[in-house]
Amino acid sequence: MIHIPENLSAILYLVSGVCFILALRGLSSPVSARKGNLFGIAGMVIAVGTTAALPAVLSYEVIIAGIVIGGAIGTLIARKIEMTALPQLVAAFHSLVGLAACFVAAAAFYRPEAYGIGRFLDIGTASLIEMSVGLAIGAVTFTGSIIAFGKLQGLISGAPLVFPGQHFLNAILGIGLVALVVLLVQVQSEATFWSILALSLLIGVLIIVPIGGADMPVVISMLNSYSGWAACGIGFTLSNSLLIITGALVGSSGAILSYIMCKGMNRSFFSVILGGFGGESEAAGASHGDRAIKSGSAEDAAFIMENASSVIIVPGYGMAVAQAQHTLREIGDILRQRGVRVRYAIHPVAGRMPGHMNVLLAEANVPYDHVLELEEINRDFPQTDVAFVIGANDVTNPAAKTDPTSPIYGMPILDVENARTVLFVKRSLASGYAGVDNELFFRDNTMMLFADAKKMCEEIVISLS
Ligand code: NDP
Repeated sequence: MIHIPENLSAILYLVSGVCFILALRGLSSPVSARKGNLFGIAGMVIAVGTTAALPAVLSYEVIIAGIVIGGAIGTLIARKIEMTALPQLVAAFHSLVGLAACFVAAAAFYRPEAYGIGRFLDIGTASLIEMSVGLAIGAVTFTGSIIAFGKLQGLISGAPLVFPGQHFLNAILGIGLVALVVLLVQVQSEATFWSILALSLLIGVLIIVPIGGADMPVVISMLNSYSGWAACGIGFTLSNSLLIITGALVGSSGAILSYIMCKGMNRSFFSVILGGFGGESEAAGASHGDRAIKSGSAEDAAFIMENASSVIIVPGYGMAVAQAQHTLREIGDILRQRGVRVRYAIHPVAGRMPGHMNVLLAEANVPYDHVLELEEINRDFPQTDVAFVIGANDVTNPAAKTDPTSPIYGMPILDVENARTVLFVKRSLASGYAGVDNELFFRDNTMMLFADAKKMCEEIVISLS
């Protein structure tokens, strides 16, 4: 057994906390993300090592078994997971943080002496409040994350489930929860403890079911924030300063990310929380009748692009599914060598997770200065010859600007329609994630390139060479 003195553990926890702050700072830009990740790993190694060396640790068997089993499962999942399935994986992981908070609260309630917070049914008021806050947030995070996982994985419908009196019911349940916490502080009964858990589990379900598909990005970062606050609550129960610091970091960075994403989608935070946005529209998959479209081949696309003076590439979810980023970069490189100005335009919610497109383009070694955010590039479309939209749909849909009844109304879009020619690479006329038809497919300046994104890119490369 290695035991370190309390002062040293406090210093090591502080060092670990600083590493986490530097990790967050690093992760804020693709250029410094690797360094940020290394800081995160270092912080976590110091944190786990220091905790394992605390005098409170009596034996290592269970800890080592937990690390081996959990580590094996984590490694297996990380190796197998597709990048496109990361949002649901993140949601699933958040549910575990919530569950852990509930377990710690239950352990502290039944064995308070082990935590130095009193005796069974005789716990100090402050500890009881911390414990019930951790329990409530943990339980809300647990069921909320499971519902988000189900929606993102397609196990349950992504459509918002709304019913009359929903907000009133949620408000009553919220007030009921506060009343139960007050009761627990006064009577300290087991029944009250478990009632807090049951009610919080129900609230978790009720606050996520009304949130529609198009708002899922915000929900993921919101649950990320909740899981941080749940960890923070555990930190108070365990008197562990590092958990308090880390939980607060995750909680506040998740909240800031939710705010940034709401801004990206032009939505108010409260309208997301109150739900009902971005369902599966009736029009999804609707027949397009005999409406004329222009479709072309890889040779057509190659010809149009090599004769252009400027091309803006707009990647979306379909590029991620097809893993077309490497071949796409080849197209960009060839066009540049031929004197075409090539840039990449990134919408804040393109793909299925924040930063999804940036990660894929970075993986394909697309230089960062060729990749521009929506607000940096949107005004350039009218002076652009070709918008090459590859596997993107919702993020280009003008219904977001013109149709107040559309579930994506209000979301800023990449104005590809203003380019002289718009090339859409996708397999069909099917709608995107929000289930809304895209009028641009039928425009005169649009050419559809029906194919899997990677296959089309490979054929374009052959035509260009
Ligand atoms: P969309 O989901 O709107 O559209 C993707 C398009 O890609 C589909 O229309 C599909 O058409 C096409 N596609 C799918 N597979 C392939 C393939 N193998 N080859 C070629 N095309 C393919 O994606 P966007 O990126 O435009 O928009 C993202 C949407 O996801 C937004 O609604 C956003 O709110 C939502 N969202 C975003 C998250 C985030 O954090 N970024 C998280 C969760 C949701 P077809 O079937 O015809 O090929």
